[in-house]
Amino acid sequence: MDTIQVLDKKFKVSIPEAEILRSIDAVAERINHDMAGKNPLFLAVLNGAFVFAADLMRRITIPCEISFVKLASYQGTISTGKVTEVIGINENLSGRHIIIVEDIVESGLTIERMLDSLGTRNPASVEVCALLQKPDRLQVDINIKYVAIKIPNDFILGYGLDYNQQGRGLPDIYTLVSDEEEQSKNNENMKNIVIFGAPGSGKGTQSDLMIEKYGLGHISTGDVLRGEISRGTELGKTAKDFIDKGQLVPDSLIVDMLASVYDALGEHKGVIFDGFPRTVPQAEALKSMLAERGHKVAAMIELDVPEDELMTRLIKRGQESGRSDDNAETIAKRLDVYHKQTSPLIDWYESEGIRHHIDGLGALDRIFGDICAVIDNL
Ligand code: AMP
Repeated sequence: MDTIQVLDKKFKVSIPEAEILRSIDAVAERINHDMAGKNPLFLAVLNGAFVFAADLMRRITIPCEISFVKLASYQGTISTGKVTEVIGINENLSGRHIIIVEDIVESGLTIERMLDSLGTRNPASVEVCALLQKPDRLQVDINIKYVAIKIPNDFILGYGLDYNQQGRGLPDIYTLVSDEEEQSKNNENMKNIVIFGAPGSGKGTQSDLMIEKYGLGHISTGDVLRGEISRGTELGKTAKDFIDKGQLVPDSLIVDMLASVYDALGEHKGVIFDGFPRTVPQAEALKSMLAERGHKVAAMIELDVPEDELMTRLIKRGQESGRSDDNAETIAKRLDVYHKQTSPLIDWYESEGIRHHIDGLGALDRIFGDICAVIDNL
């Protein structure tokens, strides 16, 4: 859905220009037929009708005249209901066939007042030609003979119609985007990404670059668990035993903390899940947790790095970071756990249709470039 921002509101196209013009063709044809030989005088109501009047006049092929009148109309999105004097009629209307040209008829009160006012000047006939009518809103018993397009009771903009004086020049007609539509559009655009790979495949490094470039949130279950350990919580104590052995922390513990960690991020454009999910049940739990919120994983990005390179990187990281589980023995165990418990997720995400394989060996920039290509195409 393409939207435009006008002042504080978002709008989407509801009637494209081509459709507007086709409807005007039809209405003009009727007027050409009905008013032949009557030299009608069109009274176009400013400001809104100026665009409509211009397109209508170019389709009126019989002799006719046009003049512009002014009335008060809208303020914001709610009809003020206030109508001031009709100004600008200098012609003698006696015996003339008048066609009032309006952009939109809603309650009909404005038109009714105009009809009353014009009726006192002895015209031969007075008809109304409206580009748009909201039949649901009509409050008075008046006949709008020529209506180009009937529309539901939505606030509209463009093609002469304004929102606080803005948007009159838009060639199409727009309606307000509702909060629900806005929310679902945000959800559609949300880029929740699972960054996937064996320990040492570069998930953390690439996550940092993605966060910086795309402003995404970040959930690393490993970081969350290390935080629990350093705060000495019950979860931390339990997790530490598993982590130090290079084993996975049980799914139930991870899944239990997932929703609260996710919700704690608040509003976001998307989240990178780093080191999570690590098992099929975790992936399923993630999917349903997101679905409950109207969200989803947009992509699983798999960083593929050969085993010997993973070993080299993790041993080096252990020397630099001092992470207790980055020692040769635990690393070997973690890689084994990865192959047995985590790598089945490659097929799982493949069957979800959102797996993107990336060669994780090579220059950091090239790898990041490949990741960006995936994200930019979401
Ligand atoms: P990481 O920092 O992602 O390499 O995680 C370090 C350790 O934390 C892992 O070896 C696991 O013991 C534990 N861990 C992190 N994330 C998970 C997860 N999603 N499921 C189970 N255990 C995890």
